[in-house]
Amino acid sequence: MKIGCPKEIKNHEYRVGLTPASVRELSSRGHSVLVQAGAGAAIGLDDEQYLAAGAQLAPDAATVFAQSEMIVKVKEPQPQECAMLRPGQILYTYLHLAPDPEQTAALVKSGAICIAYETVTAPGGGLPLLAPMSEVAGRMAVQAGAAHLEKSKGGMGVLLGGVPGVAPAHVVILGGGVVGTHALQMAVGMGARVTVLDKSVDRLRQLDLVFGNRITTQYSTAQSVEEAVLSADLVVGGVLIPGAAAPKLVTRAMVSRMRKGAVIVDVAIDQGGCFETSHATTHAEPTFVVDGVVHYCVANMPGAVARTSTFALNNATIGHAVALADKGWKQALKDNPHLKAGLNVAAGHVTYEAVARDLGYAY
Ligand code: NAD
Repeated sequence: MKIGCPKEIKNHEYRVGLTPASVRELSSRGHSVLVQAGAGAAIGLDDEQYLAAGAQLAPDAATVFAQSEMIVKVKEPQPQECAMLRPGQILYTYLHLAPDPEQTAALVKSGAICIAYETVTAPGGGLPLLAPMSEVAGRMAVQAGAAHLEKSKGGMGVLLGGVPGVAPAHVVILGGGVVGTHALQMAVGMGARVTVLDKSVDRLRQLDLVFGNRITTQYSTAQSVEEAVLSADLVVGGVLIPGAAAPKLVTRAMVSRMRKGAVIVDVAIDQGGCFETSHATTHAEPTFVVDGVVHYCVANMPGAVARTSTFALNNATIGHAVALADKGWKQALKDNPHLKAGLNVAAGHVTYEAVARDLGYAY
């Protein structure tokens, strides 16, 4: 199959759909891969590395789209990219269609076969093409939180791990899922005192088995959330109710009673956030202060570590990319119901029930 990888064009998006290693996986199986010149340059993946992996270089996105049977990307196609898609062409990328009627209409019009990373499932449950970005965001949350506890960033001037003779900071993690577990690992590793709260007792049991008495687990209620955040130096919000807005676990009144100079990292901000005082911010201006509490609410945290995020994403996406290239989309989806769950738009129809329902398409 002819596979194409254009350079991402969304503002401040430096990730790339295929790494040189992924190109090699495909080209060594007899597929031809066309990469737009400079596609990975911003994160140290040079054209020479792509050529060495068996890719050919294209001067621009138009050539990549025109000459490829499958396009592999990271972000949802922008309007000028949608216009270059054609009937029967495979698009394999993040789409997030439910809140995006314009993009959905453009993909329907294109007649392309659009497979969304975020709805591909796994035999053991979960969303395996979304999980790597939660892992990145969870780990980054503690790194960002630790930096913003410094005086120069508006924090109270506390070192996460303390030093001999001085108590460590108290890190409270709301939600012990993928984000929460990875934040927990970093916070424990940095020597903080860590409390994690979740609604799932099973989840707390699993964390207790792994981390033992290095952490405190708490069943999440309004009472336990309040007690934990009022004694916290850093609070990481990583709760998720699938398909719904994040619950506002921490009220404005609770924030007003938190320690001055404490830091909130609301990772769940892409679902509306779990603090009543949160609103989305960008990497250019990541924080704001409410009642003396620093809020870090960046909606695309993995973008800050685009190189790590690219490798993590490729690890999760390449297996299905190989199956699509080897078998063609019809057979690949027939053989694997989890990949089939990723099909959102095909040949002019919305094929994903929740998107069709939310945006008023026949299903
Ligand atoms: P997950 O499903 O793995 O974990 C969510 C956890 O929240 C679950 O364990 C669930 O039991 C728990 N939970 C639900 N209601 C709760 C409550 N009332 N109190 C305490 N815990 C509760 O999800 P995840 O992959 O960890 O993602 C978490 C959030 O982070 C999502 O909204 C996701 O979109 C977001 N995210 C944001 C970024 C970013 O850049 N800002 C990046 C990746 C993920």
